Amino acid sequence: MTATLASEADLRAEIAKLKRRLEREKKSRVDAEGIAERGMRALYDKQRQLELLEKVAAAANESTSLNEAIRTTLVQVCEYTGWQVGNSFLAEMGSDQSYQLISTGTWHAVNKDHDYAYDLVTRWKTFDAGQGLPGRALSTKAPVWIVDVVSDNNFPRAELARKAGLKAAFAFPVMAGAHVAAVLEFFSDKAHPEDPVLLSLMGQIGTQLGRVVDRKRSQDQLVHNALHDSLTGLPNRALFLERLTSVIARKRRRPETKYGVLFMDLDHFKFVNDSLGHLAGDALIIGFGRRIADALRWKESDDGPGGSQFASTLARLGGDEFVILVEDIKHGGDVVAVADMIQQLLTQPFMIEGQELFASASVGVIADPAVDVNADDVLRNADLALYRAKALGKSQHALYDESMHQEAMKRLKLESELRLALRKNEFIVYYQPIVDLPDMEVVGFEALVRWNRNGEEIVGPAEFIEVAEDTGIILPLGLWVLETACRAFQGLAEEPGRQQQYVSVNLSARQFAQADLVIQIANIIKKTGLAPQRLRLEITESVAMVDADRARRVLEELRAIGVKLAIDDFGTGYSSLSCLQDYPLEILKIDRSFVNRMRQGDDGLQMVQTIINLARSLRMKVVAEGVESPDELALLKSMGCDLGQGYLFSKPVPENVMRQLAAAPRQEVEEASGNLWMTG
Ligand code: C2E
Ligand code: CA
Ligand code: CA
Repeated sequence: MTATLASEADLRAEIAKLKRRLEREKKSRVDAEGIAERGMRALYDKQRQLELLEKVAAAANESTSLNEAIRTTLVQVCEYTGWQVGNSFLAEMGSDQSYQLISTGTWHAVNKDHDYAYDLVTRWKTFDAGQGLPGRALSTKAPVWIVDVVSDNNFPRAELARKAGLKAAFAFPVMAGAHVAAVLEFFSDKAHPEDPVLLSLMGQIGTQLGRVVDRKRSQDQLVHNALHDSLTGLPNRALFLERLTSVIARKRRRPETKYGVLFMDLDHFKFVNDSLGHLAGDALIIGFGRRIADALRWKESDDGPGGSQFASTLARLGGDEFVILVEDIKHGGDVVAVADMIQQLLTQPFMIEGQELFASASVGVIADPAVDVNADDVLRNADLALYRAKALGKSQHALYDESMHQEAMKRLKLESELRLALRKNEFIVYYQPIVDLPDMEVVGFEALVRWNRNGEEIVGPAEFIEVAEDTGIILPLGLWVLETACRAFQGLAEEPGRQQQYVSVNLSARQFAQADLVIQIANIIKKTGLAPQRLRLEITESVAMVDADRARRVLEELRAIGVKLAIDDFGTGYSSLSCLQDYPLEILKIDRSFVNRMRQGDDGLQMVQTIINLARSLRMKVVAEGVESPDELALLKSMGCDLGQGYLFSKPVPENVMRQLAAAPRQEVEEASGNLWMTG
């Protein structure tokens, strides 16, 4: 019995033990399940967070505006959080340079008919930094959480929130770089303790949305850059043509529409740039642009002079070239008034690098063009008028007329004729003797190009050299002249006892600018076999003044190969003799205009004497150009001029006559050339 009892007790104990074990096992299973479930939960949460981020990232990528991306994000975040209302603000800089939030008008409510929610998000349109929920996100540049807005002490919309039954809220900024671009806020109908995980997720969303702003900004920048000039910030050629094209289209629809174009550039800008440096040149361009822009703005407004209202576009085409499109004018004269205004503006100096600098501009004007023109025509015609204005001298403006177009066509025709002439070998070289004044002996010749047009007439360079220069035809032409002249002098027979005669060849600015100029010349010398000291090159002052450092280097290199150098047309350009002393020049040619002016009296005489004296002090030989009369010759001799060239001795002559002049004694030369020939 006791055994049974004992065993019964044992059994009960055994059962209790078993029960406890089962309990334990059950508990641990439940615990294990709990752990597994929590793990799953965490995984699930992570997944949802990722999904949300992906959706926002996709919206950010596809949206063309921040507002569009915000709209999607508001919906996604409400869906994710299960919260009721989302709202948005854009940050804008106020006149006091501080940022303010302005309602975007884009918001989302789960229950659309919720009047109170509507009030909450639409009644308050602006927030200052630090003010209310969004204002705090703006000033801290970080997410903000409010457990219950109704009891918050910095929530001005508390009453509206209470009516709407909204309690918990958070806001986060959209960051573009270091600046807040926008703020998003969300509301729940329950109070919630701060959720750091959710806030950090919102921080990431803010960054995603910021990318839209960055992208939009860089796109805007690209568009702006494509249409504006980087130096002055003014519209560029593309934008100008766009506006011009649209006004032309408007005139086609309404022919009474009137507009005009001004095409201008600074006079001698290149000189400023080369002598004062590119920075000063840029500063002048910026200053010029700004002055015109300011004046136009003033003139456009009501209180401008004349009171006539119009719209204008000032653009920089490049270099020192500016254009103005003037729209909505009453008559063509209004455009000329703008040209006047521009020249008036330039009577005041510019302050460039602490120095006063006076600038002037030439302006080409086209007023009220015909209906059937296109934008390129208008711009080209305004440019033609500018070309005319330049020809009138500095500080001038010229109005386009049809004859300019004809002139341009003539130039175009000449250009194609010149190219053809080059292929047909229609160019020839004439030579004009250069005479030693004390000895009256021919010491050299200047090579001067001629065009034997269609084998019918001999055309002088005055008629084509400028076009050849503008079009680059001068490059092959100049080389051809050089080679022809070198060849002619290489085999030149000489009268025994005379010094070797040289040939002087003109080098144009365009040729001088060629990077391989020295090599080209060295090659021709080698090819023709002419002794280099028998070659002289004539350059004009302007050639030497453009990029002075390079000019000096090139001239040194030319001298190093044995060629002698002359400055041509001296006195007609800008350079002073003091500039010249830096260059390795041996000969100075006084321009014909000075020689001719000698006859007019003391001033002319004085001028020539000064040049001769200064040249002598620089150890340069002086050639007087254009000596036409025995009087001039006598004066030059008395002033100590070394050499002379002019019709008095001989006109430029073809090569066969040049050979006779070079070889024959003076008396024979006189007869052979048929020209006046002075015998000392
Ligand atoms: P330039 O270099 O000053 O040449 C002198 C010009 O004065 C020549 O005109 C010559 O015929 C002219 N002349 C010489 N003596 C007298 C005179 O006593 N009275 C007058 N009234 N004129 C005189 P041309 O041959 O018509 O050449 C004109 C310009 O064309 C030259 O002026 C030169 O700048 C340019 N040129 C001529 N040939 C070439 C060339 O092969 N290459 C380049 N780049 N330019 C050239
Ligand atoms: Ca010359
Ligand atoms: Ca000359």
